[in-house]
Amino acid sequence: MAKRIDPKKRSMPKQEPFERVRNFDEVALGYTPELAQEEASRCLGCKKPHCVEGCPVGIDIPRFVQHIIERDFNAGIRKIKERNALPAVCGRVCPQEEQCEKVCVLGKKHEPVAIGRLERFLADWEAASGGIEKPNIAPPNGRKVAVVGSGPAGITVASDLALLGYEVTIFEALHEAGGVLTYGIPEFRLPKAIVRREVEYVKSLGVKLHLDYVVGKTKTVDLLLGEFDAMFIGAGAGLPWFMEIPGENLNGVYSANEYLTRCNLMKGFRFPAYDTPLKRATRAAVFGGGNVAMDSARTALRLGADEVHIVYRRSRDEMPARLEEVENAEEEGVIFDYLTLPIRLLGNEQGWLTEIECLRMELGEPDDSGRRRPVPIQGSEFRMRADAVVCAIGNSPNPLIPMTTPGLSVGKKGNIVASEETGQTSRERIWAGGDVVTGAATVISAMGAGRKAASAIHHALSG
Ligand code: SF4
Repeated sequence: MAKRIDPKKRSMPKQEPFERVRNFDEVALGYTPELAQEEASRCLGCKKPHCVEGCPVGIDIPRFVQHIIERDFNAGIRKIKERNALPAVCGRVCPQEEQCEKVCVLGKKHEPVAIGRLERFLADWEAASGGIEKPNIAPPNGRKVAVVGSGPAGITVASDLALLGYEVTIFEALHEAGGVLTYGIPEFRLPKAIVRREVEYVKSLGVKLHLDYVVGKTKTVDLLLGEFDAMFIGAGAGLPWFMEIPGENLNGVYSANEYLTRCNLMKGFRFPAYDTPLKRATRAAVFGGGNVAMDSARTALRLGADEVHIVYRRSRDEMPARLEEVENAEEEGVIFDYLTLPIRLLGNEQGWLTEIECLRMELGEPDDSGRRRPVPIQGSEFRMRADAVVCAIGNSPNPLIPMTTPGLSVGKKGNIVASEETGQTSRERIWAGGDVVTGAATVISAMGAGRKAASAIHHALSG
């Protein structure tokens, strides 16, 4: 008899919106073992599993799902960790709906298997059970590799090479490891204790970590390379873009990078217990439509704003943010001003932001990105009140390393040029991957690039 499939994913328990806007605790609460088993039972165990092809690091998804059905959670997490050193992180922040779940066979007629939620369940189950398992580590091979940046790409390279017997040292510019996972993604979406747990796991493999070490300043790439056999640069994309409109230097105007770093890394939401101030706006506006814009808007609400607007020049259909995050923001009361373009910021005599002047837009023909181009409606100018603006329209890589490293090829947007297949840069013994190469992208694609680079470095150093 054919298996009867439940058409819907098991929903994940969440904090209620009215409750969660008053705290920074994680919104989604995760599956119980019973919910995880029910969800896993929806999987068809396909002979040709498209989900695996859709996963940038090639996790054996049907196998780990089968282990959940059998309630062998240890075997399940072990299977994931063969390919992914950060399962608790990926289970929370990866856009599975664009990757493994997008191509899940079940998704043709029903909702796909909730692969991300199951991955998260196993990682959390392992942490709660107290024992984080370590895979076998090859004996030391006497080769040393430097990794610049401790975000997802750097952590993946470091753990893959450590397992192969390399002596790996990570150099991190900030005072905490984790890169964008630590400074960029808010506590309510990715608790920092989870990032710390994953970093501790990588350290337990023998990886050394130097904090407060700015490569390009503390030491140049070339000086550091003199002490190592190879280097991987995974320094991320930390240089924020602004709208380049009048008034952006007013007080109360932030880049999303600064706003989220003050809150997440410097604990500005606990000011004055922590000494980083952060404006507690009454009416905040966030420019942009990606996940970072959603994170910024939801942070402003939790900091006590009466009203928070997302100002986006296209419509809801074109927003790049994950649907789940848009829905969370809507449930929490964020107001979405679609088809709206800020053109000027106005302030008072003391230099503080008071108003935003905007233009209404309409959608025209599709542009190079395939999305319909927003076109201004002449004479539609209007003003809205705001005492804080967060600009969340994108980032590019910090120019420090390219500026101080002769011979390192850089693209038009300041990204390091590296082979898509191997991560090899224009310089010998230097590989790169993640956002520093692609511009701001996803955690899992950075990890995929890290995995390819680790394999290429191993190939080059082991002859
Ligand atoms: S494609 Fe979907 S149904 Fe098939 S094995 Fe993968 S998760 Fe299961």
